[in-house]
Amino acid sequence: MIKQNLHTHSIFSDGENTLEEMALAAISKGFSSLGFSDHSAIKGCEDWCMPREKYAEYFLECERIKEKFEGKLEIFIGLEMDVLSEKCEYPLDYAIGSCHHVVKNKKRVCIDNTPEELIEGAKDLFNGDMLLLCEEYYDEVGRIAERDDLQIVGHFDIITKHIEVCKGIVDVTSERFIEAENKALDKLIKAGKIFEINTGAMARGKRTLPYPSERVLKQIAKAGGRITISSDCHDADFLDCGFDECLTLAKKCGFGEIYYLECDGFKAHKF
Ligand SMILES: [Zn+2]
Ligand SMILES: [Zn+2]
Repeated sequence: MIKQNLHTHSIFSDGENTLEEMALAAISKGFSSLGFSDHSAIKGCEDWCMPREKYAEYFLECERIKEKFEGKLEIFIGLEMDVLSEKCEYPLDYAIGSCHHVVKNKKRVCIDNTPEELIEGAKDLFNGDMLLLCEEYYDEVGRIAERDDLQIVGHFDIITKHIEVCKGIVDVTSERFIEAENKALDKLIKAGKIFEINTGAMARGKRTLPYPSERVLKQIAKAGGRITISSDCHDADFLDCGFDECLTLAKKCGFGEIYYLECDGFKAHKF
């Protein structure tokens, strides 16, 4: 298996390690390439996002690491672009499009923080209708299809994050939920976006399975959609967390290839 991770955080946002430590971990784990993707700036989320004023320093440091490890590890420079962030004027090799909030009437709820915050947000913004909140979430995710600056869809169904530990929070088998999910999937697949199988929450002990669900992966495979594997890494020790399981899962769901970023764009590798 080719080892690449395009979803890597560092101390520039909410990661535990420096970019250089991440690169060293990648080399020691046998990676051929690594993509940096710290969180883009969102006003009011400075505790986990990279402030706008740090962009210049981030891109300089990415370039320094790229040069330093040339010949040993190929470095790609990217961002995890939240859909609420302003477009980035620095040149990027790629960007992950992610949705971490649901917004209504200029109020927003962070959907991947705590179950309590999610439930409170549904009460406050949607009269307690969690399904309505989920529909709003998938509408927003679907709009990534219209953005040509975003190539990868980050953690497609992160809205389901708290379900394993907080059963009953929302019925993911309900017709409304599946319809909202499918509508977003359809738009994103048609736009040629690449979905990541993301093991980040597994590494942090929040889930036992990656995003997205088997149901979603099977839908993507059936429609001829594209996937990549990422660890949404916030800690160098977990850079390749669950990669083998992801490959097995991808095969089980009907995929025959995985996409990797190369110097001239995304390329499929059969397995
Ligand atoms: Zn994210
Ligand atoms: Zn991330």
